[in-house]
Amino acid sequence: MKVLKFGGTSVGSAQRMKDVAKLINDGERKIVVLSAMSGTTNTLVEISEYLYRKNTEGANDIVNRLENKYRRHIDELFSTEEYKQKALEQVKTYFDDIRAHAKDFFTLFDEKAVLAEGELISTCMMNLYLQECGASSVILPALEYMRTDKNAEPDVAYIREKLREQLELQPDAVIYITQGFICRNAYGEIDNLQRGGSDYTASLIGAAIKAEEIQIWTDIDGMHNNDPRFVEHTAPVRNLQFEEAAELAYFGAKILHPTCIQPAKFANIPVRLLNTMDPSAPGTLISNETELHKIKAVAAKDNITAIKIKSGRMLLAYGFLRKVFEIFESFHTSIDMVCTSEVGVSVTIDNTKHLNEILDELRKFGTVTVDQDMCIVCVVGDLDWENLGFEAKAVEAMREIPVRMISYGGSNYNISFLVRQEDKKRALQSLSDVLFSANSAN
Ligand code: ADP
Ligand code: ASP
Ligand code: MG
Repeated sequence: MKVLKFGGTSVGSAQRMKDVAKLINDGERKIVVLSAMSGTTNTLVEISEYLYRKNTEGANDIVNRLENKYRRHIDELFSTEEYKQKALEQVKTYFDDIRAHAKDFFTLFDEKAVLAEGELISTCMMNLYLQECGASSVILPALEYMRTDKNAEPDVAYIREKLREQLELQPDAVIYITQGFICRNAYGEIDNLQRGGSDYTASLIGAAIKAEEIQIWTDIDGMHNNDPRFVEHTAPVRNLQFEEAAELAYFGAKILHPTCIQPAKFANIPVRLLNTMDPSAPGTLISNETELHKIKAVAAKDNITAIKIKSGRMLLAYGFLRKVFEIFESFHTSIDMVCTSEVGVSVTIDNTKHLNEILDELRKFGTVTVDQDMCIVCVVGDLDWENLGFEAKAVEAMREIPVRMISYGGSNYNISFLVRQEDKKRALQSLSDVLFSANSAN
């Protein structure tokens, strides 16, 4: 069985929902993961912000507007009065649920429950629409099988077991529609897999049922060789190795949620990135196959902070790096890049929640300097150290850009540069020009 995930834009209007329904209603048995309609989760976040501030009137205003929008979607989507009424009634219950959270003391638990409504609504509408079209479609309720453990990591054994049970409850269905993003935590409360987490839902399901393929359907023809939001003339990459895809997702290629590759990789299930707006386009296949001697793509991750600790006296002493890393560990702050020299070490972090405490501790070991508003630009491909000239080419592309750190050799798949955020666009464009232009060797 295949798992197909459709993101927010893919189900962003009544017409898009009809297009998706046509795509999935081909008689093949499948699990379909849906995001909320585009913009909905952001609106639910906004509603929560009003409720945190006890502005019930402001929140209700937005809830009413959102509900009216959904009424219009329903009117456009369904052609029979019977299904229109069914959809209006069911969707109303979700909006009533949202309104029920408008109370004196709005907590994080309320927020998580409010955020979950987007996926509950989109799946409800799609399932009813497929039934109206005569398809054998059922809801596979994510809140019954998707769960995280006490460390907020997916509880893989529980997911596998409960998903099997849920599938067995409705053995004759052909299309199983399920909610991306939402889950329960170890205590049974409604939670989520972080923004953009529907991709993660799809790969967790794929791994749990040992799917034949996981398909991530979005609004672009697969992974491009650079970020199309900042660079012109990017092109799709047809094949990626799991590690390459994971590096790109982690370092900012928004098309894939950073956590989504790992479950598929461990279960060795190919992931295909496809375009809902152009379903016949080949997209990108992510698998275990490495294409040798090729630089594949570039991505960039914003909001990075670099920290340098200089200490001629301490660094050569063994145990120094451990002490430095332990400080970050004790504040639950992970490090992305590391560069060392004889007199100092530079690291980067993206979570600055405990920056001041970390700096206080680090100052016990030497002189500390901080560079904020930085960006990691990551070049991904077959960057095995024996491939002559590959890193030189990437460095050459950065000739005109001030580079604060370079990291190479950590894996066989990447070379990363730390640059100022304001230089990101220029850096990405220059890398595209040098690495992927028509007369480039790659
Ligand atoms: P969805 O709502 O379907 O999950 P996303 O907005 O999360 O879609 O991801 C798709 C978007 O990712 C594209 O529209 C594109 O702007 C952006 N993107 C960033 N980097 C890349 C890349 N390297 N290749 C393709 N898309 C990318
Ligand atoms: N709807 C959620 C979000 O907007 C999850 C997702 O789309 O993947 O973040
Ligand atoms: Mg996404």
